[in-house]
Amino acid sequence: MRSFSHLNARTVSEAIAALVQFDGRARLNAGGTELFGALKDEFLPEYPEAVINIKSIKGLEYIKEEKGHLRIGALTKLSVLSESRLLRERYGALAEAAHAVAGPQIRNVATIGGNLCQDVRCCYYRYPRHIGGPINCARKGNGPCLAVNGDNRNHAIFAGRKCFAVCPSDTAVALALYDAQLVVVGPQGERQIAVRDFYTPIENLLQRTEIVREILIPAVTGTVTQSFSKFALRTPIDFAIVSVASLITLEDGICTDARIVLGAVAHNPHRALEAEEFLRGCRLDVEVSRQAGEFAIREAKPLSKNAFKIQIAKTLVSRAIFGQPAGFVLKGNFSETTSSTQMCSGKH
Ligand SMILES: Cc1cc2nc3c(=O)[nH]c(=O)nc-3n(C[C@H](O)[C@H](O)[C@H](O)COP(=O)(O)OP(=O)(O)OC[C@H]3O[C@@H](n4cnc5c(N)ncnc54)[C@H](O)[C@@H]3O)c2cc1C
Ligand code: SF4
Repeated sequence: MRSFSHLNARTVSEAIAALVQFDGRARLNAGGTELFGALKDEFLPEYPEAVINIKSIKGLEYIKEEKGHLRIGALTKLSVLSESRLLRERYGALAEAAHAVAGPQIRNVATIGGNLCQDVRCCYYRYPRHIGGPINCARKGNGPCLAVNGDNRNHAIFAGRKCFAVCPSDTAVALALYDAQLVVVGPQGERQIAVRDFYTPIENLLQRTEIVREILIPAVTGTVTQSFSKFALRTPIDFAIVSVASLITLEDGICTDARIVLGAVAHNPHRALEAEEFLRGCRLDVEVSRQAGEFAIREAKPLSKNAFKIQIAKTLVSRAIFGQPAGFVLKGNFSETTSSTQMCSGKH
């Protein structure tokens, strides 16, 4: 790791002033669980001159209901979200998504802001300097995407463009389900960005002098069934291979509204709009849930080595619609060369 200046910000304004002072050549440190790995491996195109500690800002760790919204401070720990009674009762998909991140040690330190702003996990992008890296690629603004003709097992199956790395954040998937907004503050003032739009194929929409202050979720009302499920190879530590968050409104067994978001399949949380449309007005049963799974992946265009994600996505969507309790993680066994997937379920 190289040396850098270290500053403790006491307020959001101080953090922004420091980012401006270093003209973007500085990084915010919330829990540090992602940032310091990146600094140690020295794979970033630019090494920061300064690290600005934002844990020293008081008052950014909260979950509160206000004016028809749930507000979550950016420094709120994932473990707090996962254990929150309010979330478990009313925003269960988010509680479960927070719980599905990494292991307890990381969840006790990592913040929701950091989870949403973390960088992609592409093996080429993150190739460390000390074993021959860094490797340049389209995301670093230098060269083509190496995953297209390389190891793309963990990459996008939807809407790939320039960079095929997927959004790694579990909580982003649940937040997109609720149409949540990020409240972002910078030298020009405050703005809101929908979580679903926050991630572009090449970066996120945060300016180098901005900070995420809070997350704003429209209140979930009425009787809805929510779930978040994740397929990962080694639970409970691994990133999702595919995840699914769902929110279903039922009246007399008929689906009156449906929202389904797939994670780890695109640069952003991917809304399965065709499946949602299909489900509205349907009486839910095994066949309908199977068909919803088919609709969810109709537009998928897998790369050379990741077609297996399609089968996993179909299965997760079907189970989210019908027959699986909210909040579970699947462990899987699969071979790179076959599209068939064995799964067993179990609460972690
Ligand atoms: C072993 C391991 C397993 C993991 N598994 C998963 C997983 O299964 N699912 C998953 O979703 N994640 C996983 N992660 C990633 C982990 O969730 C993130 O490291 C963590 O959430 C980042 O939060 P943090 O507060 O530590 O962020 P930091 O490391 O402090 O920051 C991460 C990035 O976000 C920026 N940032 C932080 N806060 C803000 C803010 N408020 N405004 C603007 N920018 C900000 C930082 O500048 C930095 O670029 C895993 C990580 C590890 C090490
Ligand atoms: S997927 Fe993105 S990060 Fe990975 S090699 Fe391609 S351009 Fe780089």
